[in-house]
Amino acid sequence: MSQDDLIYLDYNATTPLDPRVLAAMEPFLRGSFGNAASRHHSLGRQANEAVEESRQRIAAAIGADPREIYFTSGATESNNLALLGIAAAPAYAGRRGHIISVRTEHRAILDPCHHLETGGHDVTLLPVDDAGRLDLEELRGAIRDDTLLVSVMHGNNEIGVLHPLQEIGKVCRERAVLFHTDATQSFGKEPIDVDRDHIDALSFSAHKMCGPKGVGGLYLRRRGPRVRCEPLIRGGGHERELRSGTLNVPGIVGMGLAAHLGVADRETEQPRIRELRDRLQAALLQNIEDTVVNGGAAPRLAGTLNVSFPGVDAEALISRVPNLAVSTASACSSSTLQPSYVLGALGLSEELLTSSLRISLGRFTTPAEIDRAIEYILRAAQALREQSA
Ligand code: PMP
Repeated sequence: MSQDDLIYLDYNATTPLDPRVLAAMEPFLRGSFGNAASRHHSLGRQANEAVEESRQRIAAAIGADPREIYFTSGATESNNLALLGIAAAPAYAGRRGHIISVRTEHRAILDPCHHLETGGHDVTLLPVDDAGRLDLEELRGAIRDDTLLVSVMHGNNEIGVLHPLQEIGKVCRERAVLFHTDATQSFGKEPIDVDRDHIDALSFSAHKMCGPKGVGGLYLRRRGPRVRCEPLIRGGGHERELRSGTLNVPGIVGMGLAAHLGVADRETEQPRIRELRDRLQAALLQNIEDTVVNGGAAPRLAGTLNVSFPGVDAEALISRVPNLAVSTASACSSSTLQPSYVLGALGLSEELLTSSLRISLGRFTTPAEIDRAIEYILRAAQALREQSA
């Protein structure tokens, strides 16, 4: 099988690099290799200017000030920095230690939460309903006088369910609690405005938006309120003392363009992807009996489809269609080979859990690929059902 035969429908795991992004990065991998901190010569200044342009583009994508954007190695680091850094800030010490998050968050939120818990912080993980939705009244009720931070993701990486940022932000603002969101899957795809949505901290990553791997960032509000955050990595004092280390200039340049392209094309691109996703979803529902769309009753990311085919083992299905790149559980936790805790939080039965597929579409997905994917999945599901019957 050549790469050309592969139908890539795993955009939530990672995305192909947009050729325009690669072209923008290339000069900084070649001749313009300067260190953005070397302001005394032209190569360094070129690098610094490119980094600052990127910071502006990223800030513009979410209605932020460029000074509120800090570059990191990706969303895992950004989430760790937001949770551990805010929890460690002396300004909040002693007064507030309670943190609220949700059971369906990515491990890059849950693991730092667990770490904070072992260090003496109190953590509440809110449940979700059978479509993956959060109950805002439950969130309101969970906030205590000592609550420091609420962290709720925007688009879920496994089921695509979108949490209502503005409503959550409003609840947090009313109670003077900080609001962090992991927007890794929605950045550049869904409209986000940090002021309208009352967001105090926001994580993102380039490789989910057709940018390069190993680069991401964190937005931290400067005013009303100013968010205090302790660095996790200390060194040269880069990124206004919050995140030391020589900046990944090509990566940052690529991420800036990736964010810009995402926002610029959003109004035509997201409906196109949604239509393809809906076509795929309708075909599977129509032709595979008892198909369940996980999270289907909630607002979702345009490109995500999580389906269960009762009686069809998802691993067996995937091995029957080697030229279809899809996932069974979140790629980041599938090394553990445990059934998805996200689907578990929705209350799925064992049968639905082991028969679930995550199919995620994106910028380079074509109608022809969706037609072929439908054909492959139908054929494989039918064969497996016949086998078990
Ligand atoms: N949060 C979410 C919601 C994600 O989907 C991912 C990537 N799987 C991450 C965080 C981690 O991002 P990164 O790969 O940039 O560390």
